Amino acid sequence: MTNPVSATLEDGIFIVTIDNPPVNAASEAVRAGLAQAASQFAADRSAKAMLIVAAGRTFVAGADIREFGKPLSGLALPDVVGRIEALDRPVICVIHGTALGGGLEIALGCHYRLMLKSAKIGLPEVAIGLLPGAGGTQRLPRLVGIEQATEIITSGRQIGAAEAAALGIVDQVSDNPDPKSAGLAFTREILAAGRPVRRTSEREEKLAADRARPDLIATLRKSVEAKARGQISPVRALDAIALSLDTPFAEAMQKERAMFMELLASDQSKALIHAFFSERAVSRIPEQESGRPREIRTAGVIGGGTMGSGIALSMLLAGIPVTMVERDEEGAARGRANVEKVLDEGVARGRYDLTRRNRLAHDLFRVSTDFSALREADLIIEAAFEDMEIKKDVFRRLDQVAKAGATLASNTSYLDIDAIASVTNRPADVLGLHFFSPAHIMKLLEIVVAKNTSADTAMTGFALAKALGKTGVRAGVCDGFIGNRILERYLRLAATMVEDGTSPYAIDRAVVGFGYPMGPHQMGDLAGLDIGWLARKRRIAEGYKGRYAFDYLDRLAEMKRLGQKTGRGCYIYPEGARKGEEDPEFLALIEEIRKEKAIAVRPALSEAEIIRRYLAIMINEGARVVEEGIALRPLDVDMVMLAGYGFPRWRGGPMHYVDSIGLAKVLADLEEFAAEDQEFYKPADLLVELVRKGQTFASLNDRS
Ligand code: NAD
Repeated sequence: MTNPVSATLEDGIFIVTIDNPPVNAASEAVRAGLAQAASQFAADRSAKAMLIVAAGRTFVAGADIREFGKPLSGLALPDVVGRIEALDRPVICVIHGTALGGGLEIALGCHYRLMLKSAKIGLPEVAIGLLPGAGGTQRLPRLVGIEQATEIITSGRQIGAAEAAALGIVDQVSDNPDPKSAGLAFTREILAAGRPVRRTSEREEKLAADRARPDLIATLRKSVEAKARGQISPVRALDAIALSLDTPFAEAMQKERAMFMELLASDQSKALIHAFFSERAVSRIPEQESGRPREIRTAGVIGGGTMGSGIALSMLLAGIPVTMVERDEEGAARGRANVEKVLDEGVARGRYDLTRRNRLAHDLFRVSTDFSALREADLIIEAAFEDMEIKKDVFRRLDQVAKAGATLASNTSYLDIDAIASVTNRPADVLGLHFFSPAHIMKLLEIVVAKNTSADTAMTGFALAKALGKTGVRAGVCDGFIGNRILERYLRLAATMVEDGTSPYAIDRAVVGFGYPMGPHQMGDLAGLDIGWLARKRRIAEGYKGRYAFDYLDRLAEMKRLGQKTGRGCYIYPEGARKGEEDPEFLALIEEIRKEKAIAVRPALSEAEIIRRYLAIMINEGARVVEEGIALRPLDVDMVMLAGYGFPRWRGGPMHYVDSIGLAKVLADLEEFAAEDQEFYKPADLLVELVRKGQTFASLNDRS
C-alpha cells in the first residue's frame, strides 16, 4: 500500500498533503497516513503548526464507499480525527473542491478551517441511509448549535463558502485559488496572532444556549420524522445530535459509532447505496462502445403546453438557447407565458435575479409559429399532442427543415418511436426523450432507443440528461416504455381493487404508508384525471384487453371533476388547498357502479394486502420489461421507479426490494392471485426462471 499522505516541514509549518486520486476519499491508506502524520508532528517539536491540504481538484470528498459492506480494516476514521484534534499545537486545514461526509469530519477535527470561495461542504450520509459516524453529529452542533446541525445533517445538503463562514463552520474564506498557498498564509496569520489550540469537541458555548431550550429536541423530532417518511437515518441522526447536549463527548462518540454501524447493517442503507450506485450505472449503455454524443449548442421545442414549456425551461436553466414552435400566435404567446411564469417564480423565490431571468427569457428564448425557425437547432424535441398522426406530421416537417446531423426527439408518453421515425429520411437521428412533469423539476429522463436510432443519437440523449442534471435511463420501444408501462399495470390493479370492494382512499393510505409521497388517486388528481382518461380512450380504440375497471374514474372525468385543477376529483380541494378531503359522493358513485356492473363485492382489503398485490404486479411487470430488453437491467427499472414515480428511495426500487423479500414469495403471491384473473397476474417467465435457479435480480445487474 503506497502512502497517499505525505508530510514536509516548511518554515516551521508541518504540511500534510493528502493525495488519493480521484477525490481523495478517506480510504484505509489515507486514514493510516493521517494518523502517522499526526504522530510525526507530535514528535517534531520544531514544528509550530500542522496544515492539512489535499492535492488535485478537491479536499477529501468523503468516505471510500467501496469499503462499505466490507469489514473495517485498519484505523477507523473517528479515531484518526480524534488523534488530529488532540494535538497540542494548532492544526489547520484548507478546504477546496468539496469536503463531504468523512472529509468534513476531518476538517471539523482541525482547530482552524480555511475554505476556498468556490468550495462546498456537507454531511450527506443520511442520503445513503447512514449518519456522520466520525464525530460529525457531535462536533457540528458545537459549532452551529443543535437546530442548524439538525437541518444540515438531516437534509444532507451542500453548503457554499459564504454560508459556511456565516454559520461559523469555517473561520475564513479565501479568494486564492491555490489551496496550499492560501493555507500557508492563513497558518502564518494564526501563528503571528499567537492563536491557541482550539478543539471543537471542547467548545460549549452553542450547546449551553441550546440546553436552555427544553422542548428543542422534541420539536425537531416532529419535523424530522414528518420529512423522513419512513426513512430511519435522519431520525437516528437526530438521536445522535441530541447526545451532544447531555452526554460526555467520548461516550457520545462511542454511541455515534454504534448507531452508525447499526445503520450500515440495515436494509435501508443497502437500498439507498443500491440507489446511489444505480444512479451512476444507468449511464453504462451498449451504445457507449461506438457512439459519440453530438454537441448541443441550440435546441428547439415543438409545442408550448405543459411539457413543451417545462422542457424548454429545463434547457434554458442549463444555459441552452431554445426556440419554441407552436401552432399559431396564440399558442406561441401561451408557451412564452408558461415559461416566463416559472422564471418569475424563480426570481420570487430568490433562486436567481432579474438579470438572469431576463437573459433566459429574452436572450436565450424565442417563440415562433414557423418550423423554419428550427433550421439551426442541434436538437429538436417534439411535445405536441399525444396523437400519432400529429406526431408524424410534425416529424415530416422537421425532416424538411432540420439541418443534417440534428437530433430529433419525441416526448411521447406511449407511442411507437419506430413509427414516428419512419416518416423521416433520417431514422438514425430519431429517439424518444420522455420527460416527466414538471419537466424542469423531475429528475428522470427516459431515453428511448428505437430500432434505427444510431449510437451517436443515443449518446446525445445521455449527454443531454447530464447537461440538464437529470438521470437518463435507456428504454426500448413498447407501449409506455419502462415507467408508464409498469404504472399502467398498478393503476389497473388499483382500479380493480376499488371495483371489487376496497376504498380508493384506503389504497392511497396504504401506498403512502409504504413510503410513496402519494397514492394513485392523489396522483391522478394532481396530474388531471383527463390525462389517464384520454390514454384509456386510445387504448379502448386500439382494443383494450382484459378486465376494464376504470369506470369510476371515467365518470369523474365526464363530470369534469378532473382533480386539483377543478377543485374536485377523487378528493375535494377546498379553495386553494393542495391536500384533498375525502368525498362521500365519490364513494357513493363507486357503489353505484359496482351495482350497475353487478360486481360480486368482496371484503375490503387490508393495507398489507393492498401492498402485497401492488408490489407483486409492479415487480412482475418490471421482470417482463427486463426480460424483453426494454430495460437493460433490473437496476434501470429501479431507477425509473425511484426518479420518476415516487417509489421510496430507501426501499431501493421494486427490483432491489423483491430481492430482499424473496422472489419465491412474490411468485407464490402471483400464483395465488391468478386464481382471480389468470391473465392479469400471470407470472413473468424471467421471475419463474430466477426462482427456479435460486437467483436474484441483482445477479442480472452484475452482468454489465
Ligand atoms: P399540452 O396539451 O399541454 O400541450 C401540447 C401543445 O402542443 C399545445 O400547446 C399545442 O398547441 C401544441 N401543438 C399541438 N400540435 C402542434 C403542432 N403541430 N405544432 C406545434 N405545436 C403543436 O400537452 P402536454 O401535456 O404538454 O403533452 C405533450 C406531449 O408530452 C404528449 O405527447 C404527452 O403524451 C407527452 N407527455 C406528457 C406528460 C404530462 O404529464 N403531461 C408527461 C410526459 C410526456
